Amino acid sequence: MQAITDYIKRLFLWELLKGMSVTGKYFFAPKITIQYPEEKTPLSPRFRGHHALRRYPNGEERCIACKLCEAVCPALAITIEVAPREDGTRRTTRYEIDMVKCIFCGYCEESCPVDSIVETPFFEYHGDKRGDLLMTKEKLLAMGDRFEQQIAADREKDAPYR
Ligand code: SF4
Ligand code: SF4
Repeated sequence: MQAITDYIKRLFLWELLKGMSVTGKYFFAPKITIQYPEEKTPLSPRFRGHHALRRYPNGEERCIACKLCEAVCPALAITIEVAPREDGTRRTTRYEIDMVKCIFCGYCEESCPVDSIVETPFFEYHGDKRGDLLMTKEKLLAMGDRFEQQIAADREKDAPYR
């Protein structure tokens, strides 16, 4: 009986029809392809993109040069040098992230006691020449200034889950 069933299936190209039915189903279904970069998918408030150093609303940089982020970084991507300022506070004289080494684990962000080093939703960056992906303190602070509103909004959304 099984042999007859198999023969009939082969005769009427049953497997081919089954495959075509799947193709037909998806041919008429709504398309999920996104026309990037004109269209973009939503990002989680926890998305880990390009790093940034944040400032307080008065313009003072948040980082207190505790070096926790440097110590916790598993990729040894962060380099920090520290010196006291004239007012006695500690600040970094050098803060660099080598984005070529970074594995975007988010540990630096998690470890920071003052919410200074963060990862922004920005991921559309590249480097053309050596050094382009070495993020200096100036570049990181500029990123913080550029994305501060978005960073603050994402933290607000994520607060209940922290
Ligand atoms: S995201 Fe991870 S690997 Fe990248 S700098 Fe931070 S701690 Fe290091
Ligand atoms: S960014 Fe945060 S964790 Fe890193 S040195 Fe500054 S205050 Fe410490």
